[in-house]
Amino acid sequence: MTPREYDLICVGGGYAGLAAAARAAQLGLSAIVLERGSDELYACNSRVAGGVMHVSYNDPTSAPEVLAGAMTEITAGYADPALVNAVADNAGRAVQWLQSEGAGFDRMTTAGWRNWVLAPVRPPATHLAWQGLGADMGLRTLEKNLRERSGSLLRGSQVIDLIIENGCCVGVRARQDEREVAFHGRAVVLGDGGFQANEEMAGKYLTPAPRSLKQRNVRTGMGDGIRMAQAAGAALSNLEAFYGHVLSRDAMHNDNLWPYPQLDELAAAGLLVNQQGQRIGDEGMGGVYLTNAIARQADPLSTSVVFDEAIWQGPGRAAGIPPNNTLVTNGGTLFKAGSIAALAGMLRVNAAGLEATVREHNAALASGKLDQLKPGRSATRRKPMALNTAPFYGAPACGGLTYTMGGVCINAQAQVLRADGTTISGLYAAGAVTGGLEGGPAVGYAGGLMKALIFGLLAAEHVAGTR
Ligand SMILES: Cc1cc2nc3c(=O)[nH]c(=O)nc-3n(C[C@H](O)[C@H](O)[C@H](O)COP(=O)(O)OP(=O)(O)OC[C@H]3O[C@@H](n4cnc5c(N)ncnc54)[C@H](O)[C@@H]3O)c2cc1C
Repeated sequence: MTPREYDLICVGGGYAGLAAAARAAQLGLSAIVLERGSDELYACNSRVAGGVMHVSYNDPTSAPEVLAGAMTEITAGYADPALVNAVADNAGRAVQWLQSEGAGFDRMTTAGWRNWVLAPVRPPATHLAWQGLGADMGLRTLEKNLRERSGSLLRGSQVIDLIIENGCCVGVRARQDEREVAFHGRAVVLGDGGFQANEEMAGKYLTPAPRSLKQRNVRTGMGDGIRMAQAAGAALSNLEAFYGHVLSRDAMHNDNLWPYPQLDELAAAGLLVNQQGQRIGDEGMGGVYLTNAIARQADPLSTSVVFDEAIWQGPGRAAGIPPNNTLVTNGGTLFKAGSIAALAGMLRVNAAGLEATVREHNAALASGKLDQLKPGRSATRRKPMALNTAPFYGAPACGGLTYTMGGVCINAQAQVLRADGTTISGLYAAGAVTGGLEGGPAVGYAGGLMKALIFGLLAAEHVAGTR
């Protein structure tokens, strides 16, 4: 029989892996995290996140029915009800657990979905600011607690394979420097993030031109967990959707223009057009949806956000880090013209095409026939505005890829599933490596941090319950 050195082996030291390990150790299990990054403050999306703990833009301590309704609505019914209920039923206690572990929270007054923001709260900087801020400090706290409970986190340890015996996962093989080391355990939690930084996978599932997307992340999600789980017989779901935002095209080479400002609000009120001046998707679905539409263009670097003065002064100032006027002050291109035709010339967009698109948009809005546009335009999530107040503006756009939404299929206990619905004994997954909760045709977003935290906790608790 294989010697079992650990109760739980966690692959990756983001919120998914570290929450699982810290909770397991708290429940008296022996737990280890194997983390590929070798720095003391190794990079991961969890560490650089804005720290807003929400469930589909709702306070995580809201009633479970409210949270379940929000996730179902935002994914247009795509999300697996079992996962929806797991999140809805555990979100409140998950943030309270994280708080009890010593993570600080602040309440931002702007909206209920920002009632639980990891403290210190990220300042409104456009560049990637993270050191000493809430999400980073929360990870440090979990690691400290893990160690105090006799658990460990090994840096510089890239997990490359699962050890499968008789269909059960009994450990992993990891690369440490030039060596390969085996770790045996009763259970393994995959928490290695998505596949956003794996160019081959991004090219296969998300976009015909992966290098033409802005990596709005820290490039640690290589899809290892998805590959390993699939080799062990796991089912995968919805690899085509990702979480991200519409950014200035200058973000491709200007680090002051990502992760913020997002051009989402401008595009959702105005238009997102290609070089023919034609719309590429339903702007009313919002920025995450539109970012996926940008990615699916033959040339994702060919779209522009078009709007007018009223949108620039209204939705343009609405976000926490609004494009008006962080876009221009940070070096982002913004064209301004007295007419749509003149703006088209500056954007190098077909002028007749753009004029027709604006005319049709304004007419459909006035007559209440937005659904008859091609593509149709919805108005329930984001309100469209007419483009009739000069000057008119255009911002060359790009798609910012934050993390992939699809991945390994799991059940409500975070156990990895085969296509026939049976579980792979000993194998769990949590966070951005998993699929089934987010994405779908509406590209619905549930909240990356909560998804990682909740399923990390559920995995640890299930392993503890099967001792
Ligand atoms: C700029 C930015 C802002 C964000 N803001 C928010 C926010 O405010 N609210 C929110 O809900 N979400 C936010 N997110 C999303 C959120 O950060 C992620 O969804 C979440 O942190 C994912 O956690 P995770 O533990 O699954 O993965 P990650 O945090 O990506 O951690 C995975 C870890 O696994 C390691 N790893 C990878 N491969 C291996 C391997 N083979 N072996 C061992 N280790 C491996 C990686 O190095 C990494 O440390 C933001 C993301 C970004 C980039």
